[in-house]
Amino acid sequence: MAGFREECGVVGVIGDPDAAKLIYLGLHALQHRGQEAAGIVTLNGGEEFTGHKAFGLVGDSFPNEIIARLEGSSGVGHNRYSTTGGSRLTQNIQPFTFNTAIGNIAIAHNGNLTNAYMIRQELEAMGSIFQSTSDTEVFMHLLARSDKADVLERMVEVMSKVKGAYSLVILTKDRLYALRDPFGFRPLVFGRRGSAVVVASESCALELLDADFDREILPGEIIEIFPDGLVKSHHPFPNARKGFCSFEPVYFARPDSQVFGEEIYNLRKRMGQVLARETAVDADVVIAVPDSGFPMALGYANEAGIPMEIGLVRNPYVGRTFIEPSQSIRDFGVKLKLSPVRSTLYGKRVIVVDDSLVRGTTSLKILRMLRKAGAKEIHMRLGSPPITHSCYFGVDTPERDQLMAATNTAEEIREFIGADTLGFLSLEGLREALGEQNANNYCYGCFTGNYPEDPCRTITPQATDAMGGPGLKAGF
Ligand code: SF4
Repeated sequence: MAGFREECGVVGVIGDPDAAKLIYLGLHALQHRGQEAAGIVTLNGGEEFTGHKAFGLVGDSFPNEIIARLEGSSGVGHNRYSTTGGSRLTQNIQPFTFNTAIGNIAIAHNGNLTNAYMIRQELEAMGSIFQSTSDTEVFMHLLARSDKADVLERMVEVMSKVKGAYSLVILTKDRLYALRDPFGFRPLVFGRRGSAVVVASESCALELLDADFDREILPGEIIEIFPDGLVKSHHPFPNARKGFCSFEPVYFARPDSQVFGEEIYNLRKRMGQVLARETAVDADVVIAVPDSGFPMALGYANEAGIPMEIGLVRNPYVGRTFIEPSQSIRDFGVKLKLSPVRSTLYGKRVIVVDDSLVRGTTSLKILRMLRKAGAKEIHMRLGSPPITHSCYFGVDTPERDQLMAATNTAEEIREFIGADTLGFLSLEGLREALGEQNANNYCYGCFTGNYPEDPCRTITPQATDAMGGPGLKAGF
């Protein structure tokens, strides 16, 4: 239940007459990656795109009559996460479509280009006019301005200019392209559904579509997909250092997805097991903070030999609320989402397992709720190390001064949230859970301040606000 915001989800389909329906379902499976807005663009035979974009959840935004209008056998879709006022610009909802000298192009992006602000300033100085405040548009401008002969060469050129995180699906009149930045910060997979090919941020989308998982798109790889299902792979950046986001397995990705070479459920259980070894304590019961805490709590309970019970129930129907909580209703937000199970908690020594601690305020409210339900002792356990730094690679983290672990000791945090004991998974423990063979391929920047690539810290919220919105900072 991290306080980090979800990022975005992308889907691409080529070679199926029901492309829009498949993209719609794929976006459903990826709803956890972004709930602010969704969009689908399809290509109807010729070169013209048809699209629909709306704020809100996928299920609320695409009634049957809209889907029926989105004809064509190829298309791309996007679930957007974003935060503040500027994000509520309709023109920031993806996929974006552009008319270029090499034809019409549609693009959907998950990630964050760290040097987008600088490039945008240069392009604007040369006369470029931007329609949105999104970093994705910077990618498209570079693609459109390139003097290379074909789309693929242009993509390679743009990839050598932009920095940061990008998993992209790009649709042209006769191809679907899917590409990942050389570090591979964000996941991207593809699979086959008959002769059609489906690309998605996570494999859980393929599962829903009955598409057979083929493989992950590799860091720095571009795959070029033809309408008959032929897939050509290109590796313009073969030996780059990898930088998979370790927060994907900790929190973002769905447990049934295979991301960065392993199933998330297994990785989270291992995090819980290692956490139990590192932070052992006598207790009667282990409970999880739903949902991402469940596999970690299970791993913890198994390793510690302490029974796991349901101690908190999540209300799955919480969407946006338009009721402003009054001062007299404390902890309103958390109570809307979570409710305690008294028989699990009353008079018990309870280990509570959550994925991470960001500002600490959610943990404070949860622990207050557990105490009120009668828990005798509360031992808070976090399945990731203390978060001490912001992310610049597509995860919308608070500024450093709002990260509790950046400015407080573990003892101060324990006291603030009201736990009897507090334990974090160590960095070494996280590496162990991710597997020593793979551990060096991850980014741990928000835990260490060491990023795989210079995060171009000139991209400050102030700079992006001045530019017109959060589009170049927040993850898309
Ligand atoms: S800084 Fe943290 S959240 Fe950002 S990419 Fe690295 S591990 Fe992921």
